[in-house]
Amino acid sequence: MDEVDRSGRSLRDSDDELIHWCHGASGIIYMMAAAYLRWKDQRYLDSCKRAGDLVWRKGLLRKGPGICHGVAGNGYVFLLLYRLTGDERYLYRAAKFADFMNLPQFQTDARIPDSPYSLYEGIAGTACFLADLIEPDKAHFPFQDVF
Ligand SMILES: [Zn+2]
Repeated sequence: MDEVDRSGRSLRDSDDELIHWCHGASGIIYMMAAAYLRWKDQRYLDSCKRAGDLVWRKGLLRKGPGICHGVAGNGYVFLLLYRLTGDERYLYRAAKFADFMNLPQFQTDARIPDSPYSLYEGIAGTACFLADLIEPDKAHFPFQDVF
């Protein structure tokens, strides 16, 4: 949700929002999911769904394929939502984020991470995401399983 002033105008350009596991909805969703699973308060699940909708709209990044600030990390949001809800729409979204990483434009234009083979920035995390797509009922962001 954008910050707004007293008249309801946004205080920042929505194009500047960071939608990464390390910044924003893609990361905070894990806390909301843990709260939902602990207290079963629908508001936490609704918050998770809103985070997922934001990631769906703005989560295709050019920062590489990693799970920290890359497309695979945002794709994990949908695997989490699938596990929380059983709604296959989230599997579709996760698969589309995986497809995006296979586009020639992404492969030529996306930034190469500082640590291209690492778990969080590089291809190791991406491999985890792709493997979890195969078995989404057991999917979890590495070292951050909330179930
Ligand atoms: Zn990051």
